[in-house]
Amino acid sequence: MPSPDPYAPVESLKGIGPATAARLAGAGIVRVTDLLLLLPTRYECVRPAASLAAVTGREGLRAIDVTVRKVVRRWLRRRGRSMVVAELEDAGGGAGRAVWFNQRWVADRLEPGSRVRLTGTVREGKGGVPELLNPRIGPVDGPVEAAVRPVYPSVAGFPAGRVRRMVEAALETLPGLPDPLPDSVRRGEGLPGLAETLEALHRPLWEGDEAAFRLTAGTTSWQRRLAFDTMLAMTGAAARRRAARSRMTAPACVPAGTGTSGLEQFAPFPLTGAQRRALEEIVAGLAGPAPMARLLQGDVGSGKTVVAALAALAAIRSGFQVAFMAPTEILASQHAVSLGRYLDAAGVTLRLLTGSVSGRERDAVLSGLAGGAVDLVVGTHALVQEGVGFARLGLAIVDEQHRFGVLQRRALWSKGDSPHLLVMTATPIPRSLALTLYGDLDLSVIDELPPGRRPVRTFVRDDAARERVLTFLERELAEGGKAFIVFPRIGDDGDGNGAGGMALEAAAPALRRRFARFGVAAVHGRMPAEDRAAALDAFRAGSVRLLLATTVVEVGVDVPDATVMVIESAERFGLGQLHQLRGRVGRGGGRRAWCILVAGGGGGRGSLERLEALASCRDGFEVAERDLELRGAGDFDGVRQWGAGAGRHGSLLRYGSLLPRVVAASRRLAGSGELEAVLAALARLHGGECGSDSGTAPD
Ligand code: ADP
Ligand code: MG
Repeated sequence: MPSPDPYAPVESLKGIGPATAARLAGAGIVRVTDLLLLLPTRYECVRPAASLAAVTGREGLRAIDVTVRKVVRRWLRRRGRSMVVAELEDAGGGAGRAVWFNQRWVADRLEPGSRVRLTGTVREGKGGVPELLNPRIGPVDGPVEAAVRPVYPSVAGFPAGRVRRMVEAALETLPGLPDPLPDSVRRGEGLPGLAETLEALHRPLWEGDEAAFRLTAGTTSWQRRLAFDTMLAMTGAAARRRAARSRMTAPACVPAGTGTSGLEQFAPFPLTGAQRRALEEIVAGLAGPAPMARLLQGDVGSGKTVVAALAALAAIRSGFQVAFMAPTEILASQHAVSLGRYLDAAGVTLRLLTGSVSGRERDAVLSGLAGGAVDLVVGTHALVQEGVGFARLGLAIVDEQHRFGVLQRRALWSKGDSPHLLVMTATPIPRSLALTLYGDLDLSVIDELPPGRRPVRTFVRDDAARERVLTFLERELAEGGKAFIVFPRIGDDGDGNGAGGMALEAAAPALRRRFARFGVAAVHGRMPAEDRAAALDAFRAGSVRLLLATTVVEVGVDVPDATVMVIESAERFGLGQLHQLRGRVGRGGGRRAWCILVAGGGGGRGSLERLEALASCRDGFEVAERDLELRGAGDFDGVRQWGAGAGRHGSLLRYGSLLPRVVAASRRLAGSGELEAVLAALARLHGGECGSDSGTAPD
């Protein structure tokens, strides 16, 4: 007989006919391997009990052989509810009882005078009599032994017991199951084989020690092995892109006669040590033979912009053009102004290209880019539109890159001939997670704030304290401060029932009246870009000291003397987002800066705890870790923002420490040319599209 094939349809298994197979297919279970990968959700340990009395009140499942004395069926008063009660006697003559609810048929299996083996939990029933609740009934068959059994989820309406029998049939095919991981990787990582792993998870070994079993069941090498496979599939696509890039030829950016110190003289201030280190890493990458793809991470206000600008200068001085893409018009114009201020001196020709640049002005920018007269273009996603072409794009920079989709990043990159790529983010994301999501990028981190920053003092206040918050705001403004109030929404439309927290337009009239003497303006995404820019300019210049805003100010808005950030309905925001918003104040190092999180009472349980966590953490990475801890990865701001399927990553985070090893392994496999075969085998096994993305553009 040929050995059964794990990749055959489930119908090839004994006991699974076409009807069953069709139902299983509805739940995504088509091949035998799908059953093999259907893992138990938990394990049940059953221990023998010598007498009924001995086990009352103890935890866990017990198996005991008893004689049935009497069986009574009862209807309960609530309609349709029934009860079967059996009087029992154990081997030592001890009395007890078993009770089943809504299982009238069990009475037929309980012949008075017969012996049965019951498995269930035992509690103290009426009159102190030991009572088994809904026990399973089995034949008396040899001595009662301790056992552990896997418990499966019910699938496609099949009860757990039926699912178990189907999985057991599938296990017969295990000897024919190929292992997607090459031996070299398994040996190197000390990982067990796949068949061995599945066998162990479906038929766990039991040595009679329940505590020891529980201790190991969750964290064994078996689980680790499966996590490794999944993570390898995830990081594999990145490793492939990385390998493909390493075979490309990059624009060689070796600026004549200027090391990083030559670049640094154009910065308006001395760089921090961390900035200098990041710049050195980037400049080295730009000089390499293959295109660089680098993620520059740094907390809000850590000064990523100047590093990017000097990197741009290195490319420009080597004769290339640079595109600098920012997520909002506000940010793009601000960058254009501030970069212009110091790159002018280096002879750089800079232009701005956003949605509001149109007509003759736009034509002039486009021809300057196509002809090569423009060295540096700063813009929004308008940069990736059709019709925008470069004479020799050497470096693409994406600021606040989590605000862009993969496609936009790739589109920008594709405007050149395998240019270098620098993406920046202040959304702190734990390193392990960054490696999974962006395994093909090199990483530079700015882990130091410019001198003179004072930490922003953060407080959480509830709705009831709003008046006190406003009084505080009055005092701050009177003493020369500048403040933002950020709202989760613009108006009352959208969700209709006002469930989205407080709206800017609803609160604005009263605030405008109350704070009129300080100058009040509003910015939000539904106003014309000029009005927004005008409001920000007024805020920067000081004729407006209170700015009402939505999260359009979340990224990049740089008003160094802003001192207070009030966030309404703060529970509506993710922690990462709140941290970003907080980073808008206290950038000047003058007055003490404050962030006040006003909790609107929405967001349910745990939201106050999250806000308090933010109040107690200053560092963005710490905030990210806390967020992860408190909300679980499914909701983790960073993950959602980074556009990753949270669920899968969520469970994998438990194995975060494995990630660097997985990434290293996938890069090694890419290097030895084995990666494609491994990814294909993993995809076959998991029935998915593991690493199927064949693009070479960096993510
Ligand atoms: P982010 O990393 O959040 O993008 P920015 O690049 O906007 O930060 O910098 C934040 C502020 O810090 C800006 O006002 C910038 O001019 C200032 N800054 C950056 N680097 C330094 C430095 N080395 N010394 C002093 N100020 C700096
Ligand atoms: Mg920035």
